[in-house]
Amino acid sequence: MTIQTENTKAAAWDLIGSLFWETGRTTAKPSDEEIGLFLAGITAGARCTVVGASTKDLVEALIALGAEVTVMDFSERMCEDLRAALPAGSCTILRHDITQRAPEALRGTQQFVLNDRLVNRFSEDEARRGLEGMLDLLADGGQVRASIKLGLYPMDERMIDTGRERGTLETFFDAGSKVIDFAAAGDVLTDSLLPHGGIDPEILLDWYRGRGREQRFDHEDVLGLVAAAEVEGRGLALASATEFGQAPKTRMYTASAVSPRQDA
Ligand code: SAM
Repeated sequence: MTIQTENTKAAAWDLIGSLFWETGRTTAKPSDEEIGLFLAGITAGARCTVVGASTKDLVEALIALGAEVTVMDFSERMCEDLRAALPAGSCTILRHDITQRAPEALRGTQQFVLNDRLVNRFSEDEARRGLEGMLDLLADGGQVRASIKLGLYPMDERMIDTGRERGTLETFFDAGSKVIDFAAAGDVLTDSLLPHGGIDPEILLDWYRGRGREQRFDHEDVLGLVAAAEVEGRGLALASATEFGQAPKTRMYTASAVSPRQDA
C-alpha cells in the first residue's frame, strides 16, 4: 500500500492564488509565442491536462481551441481562484499533487500533459515522481510538454553569492545536487529577495520559505529524468527540446509515452 502524505509545499501556493496572474512578474508566465509552442498540433476535442492552475493563459487558450481540458493543482486556493476566473463548466479543475499516482479514472487517458516551468519547483525526488505522475496520465503515444528553465535563477545567484560571502552557503545550497533550500536560507533569503511584479515582499518571503527544496537542472539532468521515468512498464521517449523564445535558457521538452519502456 502506498501511503500518500500531504505535500507541505501546497501551503506556499495557497498564499499566492490569483496574485500570480494578477500582479506577478510577467516573465514568470509563458508568452504568447510560448503558448503557441505548447498548442502546436492540438485540435478540438483533444484530451489535455494542464498541471498548475497558475498557468491560466494556457488553460484559456486550450479552452478556446475546443480541447477537453483538465487542470490539476495541489493548492486549494490556486484551484478555487482559477475556478472563479473561468466560465463555469469550461474545464475540470482537480486538486491533485502530480508527484503522486494519477487519479485512477484518468490514468492512461490524456493525449497531452502540459506544464510551464513546474519542474523547476521540484526537489530531485519530486522531479522523478512528478514526471512519472505526468506519464501516468498519458495514453500510449500521448505527449508531455514541460518547459524547464535550465541553470540558476537571478535570485539563486544572489543567494549563492551572499551565502558564500557570509560562509553559510552549505546550510542552504548543495552544489553537487544543485538543490537550493529556501526554507533553510534565513537572512540570506531575506537579503537577496527580488521583486515578483507587485506581490507584497512579506508574502513573497513566506512563499519562498514554503517552497522549500528546489533542484536546478542542466540539459543532461532532464535527459536523465526522462529516461528514468517508469510507470507500470511504460516510459517516456524524448521527441524534442525547443528553446523558448523570450525566456533565457528555458526549453520546452516534449516526450511521448511509450509502452513498453524503451530500454526495458
Ligand atoms: N510559470 C508557471 C506559470 O506560468 O504558471 C508557474 C510555475 S508552476 C506551473 C506553479 C503552479 O503549479 C502553481 O499553481 C502550484 O500550485 C502548482 N504546483 C506546484 N507543485 C505542484 C504539484 N506537486 N502538484 C500539482 N500542482 C503543483
